Amino acid sequence: MSQQDLLDRREKAIPRGPFNIAPLFASRAEGARLWDTDGKEYIDFCGGIGVLNVGHNHPDVVAAIKRQADLLIHSSWHVAMYEPYVELAERLNDLVPVPGPNKTVFFNSGAEAGENAAKICRVATGRQALVAFERGFHGRTLLGMSLTGKVNPYTAGFGPFAPEVYRLPWEPFFRFGERADEDVERECREALAHLFAYHIEPTGIACVMVEPVLGEGGFLPLHPAAARVLQQTCREHGIMYISDEVQSGFGRCGALFATQRYDLQPDMVMMAKSLAGGLPLSAVTGRAELMDAPQVGGIGGTFGGNPLACAAALAVLDVIEREGLSQRAEAIGEVVAGRFEQLAQDYDFLAQPRGLGAMRGIDVVGREGKADAALAGRLLVEARERGLLMMTASGNTIRTLMPLVISDDELQRALSALEQSAAAVAAAILQEVS
Ligand code: PLP
Repeated sequence: MSQQDLLDRREKAIPRGPFNIAPLFASRAEGARLWDTDGKEYIDFCGGIGVLNVGHNHPDVVAAIKRQADLLIHSSWHVAMYEPYVELAERLNDLVPVPGPNKTVFFNSGAEAGENAAKICRVATGRQALVAFERGFHGRTLLGMSLTGKVNPYTAGFGPFAPEVYRLPWEPFFRFGERADEDVERECREALAHLFAYHIEPTGIACVMVEPVLGEGGFLPLHPAAARVLQQTCREHGIMYISDEVQSGFGRCGALFATQRYDLQPDMVMMAKSLAGGLPLSAVTGRAELMDAPQVGGIGGTFGGNPLACAAALAVLDVIEREGLSQRAEAIGEVVAGRFEQLAQDYDFLAQPRGLGAMRGIDVVGREGKADAALAGRLLVEARERGLLMMTASGNTIRTLMPLVISDDELQRALSALEQSAAAVAAAILQEVS
């Protein structure tokens, strides 16, 4: 069936809400490449939105899923327990940057991880307030939306939202550009003092949820000095620090967890996306005494920690370690950073290249440096025509979420396609102006 036929059926059968970055149907994928139903090949810089750090259909992950499928697909953890759940929890307890002893519980999506991390912190601290950031993204459930700091498209029209959620401004903590540590510290302390003076007393706050690198919010890394201020403030007031590693985790940022690139020891880590190499699985790992706070039956779900997903995740962790994917992310990031710097020099409409490891972004801007999502969309179309599948964050930030198993040749070809696309957009702009 042609892409157009499938598109017509999609339009009739499925609402517009679940967005598509392109009129594209995939038929198969492998490593860093994906083929559409017309047989066109793409280098994939989206990786299923950061889910495929080990690549599409990694043979070890496929084998682990097949092995597990022959044994047990589902029993529900609450009915009959199984070893892969326990083994994966043990591995994550040791791997996360939370000083142990730790415990882990599994869910299905990043949003559910956030919901449950917040629930656990509330019970453990006996406090109600949750703090999150402007530009932060934590999912599309009610609490996920309430924690998310961006109106369009995530929260507009969906209110009322959950109470007792307070927000910190993004700029002191995440603003792009060289800034002296003491300036960052001062600005962050001022923002926190403002929150405590006018919105919520620190002793009422259960937790603060922080992405080490803003994902949907524009691929902006937390400033190291801001991380220190947050950590100190949390310790001083008994506020739990939750690191949302849903997008930044599993090697993407040059370490298994982006948090490890900072001087940070969070109380809890949220994980999802690349954890299970394409199967839906999320996890919350945290200090054992926090994790044990909720009553029996207060945490869980029918599918959470499904056997297939846990088996896949165990294979993913092996692959990341054996293939050195965190180090590979750093090398990929250096190549991308160099080419993005050049693009920013060559074209007025590309600006502020940035990132951590292979989680890199560059902004598409129009007149006076204003965000230009429409122009970013044109660049993505040009890239797609040249066989590169890319997506934006925050409307106008071109972001890189390529599988970390991408070969050097694929990476070079993809970046050349992007450069040719930028040249095509520049030529078109010139023609429109003249
Ligand atoms: N947290 C972060 C940092 C994310 O990037 C996302 C998704 O993009 C989520 C939470 C929500 O995850 P999910 O879409 O699996 O619910």
